[in-house]
Amino acid sequence: MKKALLLSLCLALALLMAPAASMARIQFVTIGTGGVTGVYYPTGGAISRMVNKKAKTYNMKATVESTGGSVFNINAVLNGDLEFGIAQSDRQFQAVNGMKEWDGKPQKKLRAVFSIHPESITLIASDESGIYSLADMKDKRIAIGNPGSGQLGNSRDALALAGLDEKTGIKAEYIKAVEAASALQDERVDAFFYTVGHPNGSIKEATAGRIKVHIVEIPDVQSLIAKYPYYAKALIPMKFYPNATNKTDMAATFGVKATLVTSSDISDDIVYAITKEVFDNLEAFKKLHPAYSVLTKENMLEGLSAPLHPGAVKYYKEAGLM
Ligand code: GLU
Repeated sequence: MKKALLLSLCLALALLMAPAASMARIQFVTIGTGGVTGVYYPTGGAISRMVNKKAKTYNMKATVESTGGSVFNINAVLNGDLEFGIAQSDRQFQAVNGMKEWDGKPQKKLRAVFSIHPESITLIASDESGIYSLADMKDKRIAIGNPGSGQLGNSRDALALAGLDEKTGIKAEYIKAVEAASALQDERVDAFFYTVGHPNGSIKEATAGRIKVHIVEIPDVQSLIAKYPYYAKALIPMKFYPNATNKTDMAATFGVKATLVTSSDISDDIVYAITKEVFDNLEAFKKLHPAYSVLTKENMLEGLSAPLHPGAVKYYKEAGLM
């Protein structure tokens, strides 16, 4: 009896130890994303999926975390809380050059890996609010983005374009994008800003309710583009949101790019693995979200302002991209 117990104990122990021993060298990396109804969250999932197929080869496993967005992700990567983060190209530029949230403090450890889908500054308003231009936002309740989000900076630039100030010109709300669609439908806000790829769950949700809504066009952006190198004109295809009351096929606005960033503290092997798996399997990767349809290996090296991580450079040289 005792012998049997000892034997089964040994067996149980062996079973417990075996996976532990083989997993001992696996490195876990976490990718910071955004709200679950955005495009960053599924993007983190798509990147993880590519590299996790080769988990054994690389001895690494990637996981995803939902976060407050670009600014949060950059700071978390810099202080070592996350290994990777998705961040808007304008936020990458500002962090590296010590501007906006990083005013006077250039972030020397920030490294670029590659850029991903285009994101557009999306202002979505209820028809009832009467907001059809930036200037119409005067005295209205506008969700301009949570601290930590990328869009908070873009909303501020858009407000400035209309000569409005977030303290006096509008009633600013700082709720997360994931809560903004229901706030619009519940008439708690008149409009919200979201800098995001299309299509996405948040704008779909905002257009799917009882309240009629539309995307506000922001066509006059020349002065903004002249002032900031990271902005470009952009168009939102309205076919993605058939319930919105827009009359045209495309809504004009301005945009940036989503990018993958990391820190100089992260090893070349890890960054190489992620870069190689996404680039070598780009066609499979592109099938994971419609916002990736425009991606090419070449344009994924554009829009980066932090120094490239050496692990990524190693792959780009091997692949003849550099
Ligand atoms: N661009 C947003 C941000 O930086 C996130 C968009 C998304 O989650 O897709 O906060």
